[in-house]
Amino acid sequence: MARQSVHIVGASLAGLRAAETLRRSGFEGPVVLIGDEPHRPYDRPPLSKQFLAGDWERDRLALSPEDRFSALELEVRLGVQASGFDLQTRTLRTSAGDETVDGLLIATGARCRSLPGSEHMAGVHVLRSLDDAETLRAELAAGPRRVVVVGAGFIGAEVAATCRGRGIEVSMIEALSAPLARVLGEEMGAVSAEVHREQGVDLRCGVGVDGLDADSNGRVCAVRLSDGSTIDADVVVVGIGVVPNTEWLVGSGLELDDGVVCDSTLSAGPGVVAAGDVARWPNQRFGETMRVEHWDNAVEQGVYAARRLLADDDAELEPFSPVPWFWSDQYQIKIQMAGRIRADDQMEIVTGSVEERRFAALYGRAGRLVGVLGFNRPRHVMHYKTLIHDGASFDEALAASL
Ligand code: FAD
Ligand code: NAP
Repeated sequence: MARQSVHIVGASLAGLRAAETLRRSGFEGPVVLIGDEPHRPYDRPPLSKQFLAGDWERDRLALSPEDRFSALELEVRLGVQASGFDLQTRTLRTSAGDETVDGLLIATGARCRSLPGSEHMAGVHVLRSLDDAETLRAELAAGPRRVVVVGAGFIGAEVAATCRGRGIEVSMIEALSAPLARVLGEEMGAVSAEVHREQGVDLRCGVGVDGLDADSNGRVCAVRLSDGSTIDADVVVVGIGVVPNTEWLVGSGLELDDGVVCDSTLSAGPGVVAAGDVARWPNQRFGETMRVEHWDNAVEQGVYAARRLLADDDAELEPFSPVPWFWSDQYQIKIQMAGRIRADDQMEIVTGSVEERRFAALYGRAGRLVGVLGFNRPRHVMHYKTLIHDGASFDEALAASL
């Protein structure tokens, strides 16, 4: 049955790439793009990097130039929140009223976790949206004496690097043994720790946050740690992970489990697909159900999910089974990783050295190449990413060094 119309909920990276793909595929019916932010789709990676540093202004963040965006002829509803969906009746409930939908593409992404009790304390920030970034940027421009970053994941590590670039004193608190330890593994997490310390970050690992103290004006003034110590702070940035935005789908008839549960073709139900940070799906290449919170995944899933919505059945498409990858810019280092690694994977450095802060490391499991990590080695990462895609053995990968 040919699709009559498509509603896309979530007007960001995955949603926009999906809309573009629908048009590129020749779909001429109505495409409604609904987003709860007041802004046209913009790019988030610069929010913790060039934009926060003060090097870029908002005009550089647009994901699509004005003329290309207009040429898509979308019905754009910004500042409109989806609050419910019923799969049976195909009713979409939004803050602008109810409507009946044909094809539905869910791209509502994720939002930041907050530190309990700190949500309304002045000087405490999360970083997800352009509005968050503008507020935090203004605080940094005011010249705080010390920024305390809670969580040394991606947000924490990038914000710490940007603050140091602005000459601001930074303390970073991480409950795990090292920054990004869950992503990079213990050994490479330790290298990341060295980099932050070399750059002057007061990094405290293996310690939690007991609470924040406010001054008489209700503004944060200190962070209390679980080891009994206290750090004075006039700005706190909380980067302790995200939660997928699925509450609006509770009771919809769709399966939810830390994301929208999809099949291997990103289908969540009849005429319903999901893409980006919000989608959980079985990636057959890795024999693993995953939800990926990175830029490239949102692009690729947006494209794929739009094509899936136009296909009559899943037989028309190969399962969505990419090799996930991401980059993170910290100081002068571009960290890139492709594949899926685990703590007990075999690891070998194939080029450069950690001392130079320029290397590529391969990860193997059960004789297979499963991951590659690069510090300032983009060419190597892409080379080994292709080998992971091709199912190379670990030995083949070692033999195929660039
Ligand atoms: P989102 O970008 O989260 O967009 C979802 C949209 O849906 C939002 O606008 C949201 O407000 C809206 N929405 C939510 N609920 C509703 C509702 N009920 N109704 C209507 N609208 C709704 N990845 C990398 O690989 N490399 C990087 O260097 C990198 N840097 C990043 C830096 C920052 C500061 C952040 C926040 C993320 C970064 N990422 C990076 C991750 C990447 O930006 C995300 O993976 C990507 O934005 C996910 O896109 P998405 O469209 O799935 O979701
Ligand atoms: P994240 O990368 O998941 O890291 C959160 C970190 O905070 C984890 O190390 C976590 O440890 C730790 N943590 C959790 N609770 C804590 C607590 N109470 N006290 C101290 N530490 C705590 O999430 P994020 O850094 O907040 O990033 C948010 C989202 O933006 C993610 O989706 C991320 O992928 C995305 N992002 C991506 C990039 C990039 O790809 N370059 C850049 C910026 C943002 P545990 O694992 O033990 O919980």
